[in-house]
Amino acid sequence: MRVNQVDACFHKVARAVCFHCVNMDETQAEIRTWTSKNFGDEDPIGIIVLGLVEEIGELARCYVKQEQGIRGTTAQWEMEMKKEIGDILIKLHDVADRSGFLLSDCFYERWDDVKQRDFTVDKNGHGMPESDSNG
Ligand SMILES: [Zn+2]
Repeated sequence: MRVNQVDACFHKVARAVCFHCVNMDETQAEIRTWTSKNFGDEDPIGIIVLGLVEEIGELARCYVKQEQGIRGTTAQWEMEMKKEIGDILIKLHDVADRSGFLLSDCFYERWDDVKQRDFTVDKNGHGMPESDSNG
């Protein structure tokens, strides 16, 4: 599956010039080219999602081992965390792409909802004003 590039982004401007989206969309296209060249286009989406979970597991490993104080210094584990966070983002671009989405759409549409939540007002609720219990 390939992403359907739309002219206007979530921010209601031409996608090609959107300050928010242009870098993410270019990066997604670059990652698509790289993954297609290196791994082909035949992997089922489930395998790609599992690859994302694998990367998240590798990030978790960094925190576990650092907390346990084994197999590396704090500084070494921090370097690994930075790498794993990068790997997660690369894989997430791939998951979005192979699912037919632009990651910028996924992110900004969701962030626009989530950022309205205020858990300092109601720690046990949904974080939204009483009139809106969506999500
Ligand atoms: Zn945009």
